[in-house]
Amino acid sequence: MRAVVLDAPGEPLRPAEISRPDPGPGQVLLRVRACAICRTDLHILDGELPDPKLPLVMGHQIVADVAEAGPGVETATPGDRVGMPWLGWTDGNCRYCMSGRENLCPNARFTGYHLDGGYAEWTVADARFCLPVPEGYPDLEAAPLLCAGLIGWRCLKMTGDAELIGIYGFGTAARLIAQVARYQGRRVFAFTRPGDQETQKSALDLGAEWAGDSTEPPPEELDAAILFAAVGDLVPVALAAVAPGGAVVCGEIHMSDIPSFPYELLWQERVLRSVANLTRADGVEFLALAPRVPVRSSATAFPLEDANRAVGWVRTGAAAGAAVLVPAAMVEGRNPGTRQP
Ligand SMILES: [Zn+2]
Ligand SMILES: [Zn+2]
Repeated sequence: MRAVVLDAPGEPLRPAEISRPDPGPGQVLLRVRACAICRTDLHILDGELPDPKLPLVMGHQIVADVAEAGPGVETATPGDRVGMPWLGWTDGNCRYCMSGRENLCPNARFTGYHLDGGYAEWTVADARFCLPVPEGYPDLEAAPLLCAGLIGWRCLKMTGDAELIGIYGFGTAARLIAQVARYQGRRVFAFTRPGDQETQKSALDLGAEWAGDSTEPPPEELDAAILFAAVGDLVPVALAAVAPGGAVVCGEIHMSDIPSFPYELLWQERVLRSVANLTRADGVEFLALAPRVPVRSSATAFPLEDANRAVGWVRTGAAAGAAVLVPAAMVEGRNPGTRQP
């Protein structure tokens, strides 16, 4: 099958012909329809996340058809369209798994990091971790929901019942979750790189009430803030913008160091926390909610073989919307949701 392979961090991805995996017990064979690129993939590429499987097929926002079910699979049937997210496997018996916190399982294996993922024509996945993709969502629109959407959803939940939410870093996750926040009757302020008026305008178009530079204080005190930027300098900035009792939620898997700051910024019961990974319950909840909002995502399709170009496009952060890799067989007619950049 065709795939793009990471041989070592720091090297470009290598388009290659590799053998198609066979589903083992409890696994399904998935025919990949589309796989969105996540910023986490850039962190893996750059060697910022330790010990990836090597060589590795990255990709953890996979929309696919179940082609074959391995022995013992009870939750998926050939022909189902499913999503495969970052959480690929957990041990199911540690204190985190046993208390509804499988996202923190110390033995968790992550798709496209410890396990081969979706930058390929085919992949295998543990059937218990596949998620239902809502009907009516084209593949290209569904793919970014599977990480940007899910992590965004978990971050939004961690803000509790905050009414006015500041979102720092207005990329794909922010764009998706701003729509949910508005649907829930919350107010959204968007913070972007200083001077990025194009992104500020698109945030306003998506329902943000105010958009401005991350360096400037908001016109009103925030009830909570979510950081989708990997910039530790923004943590004290966000704490200073949040009202007493409010939370600052960091949604990135990797961040530059947080500078020291006076205790006064945390005092008055402000909370600073991170969000790590996702649980299957997060996935089921969000994918049921998304069509009700409805959450709209904009995506640009790239042929699988152009993975390096697509990754570069994500890295610049210049364009709004997600980059989605599509295998050639899906470009050639079987996938009506596909459009070329
Ligand atoms: Zn566990
Ligand atoms: Zn991701």
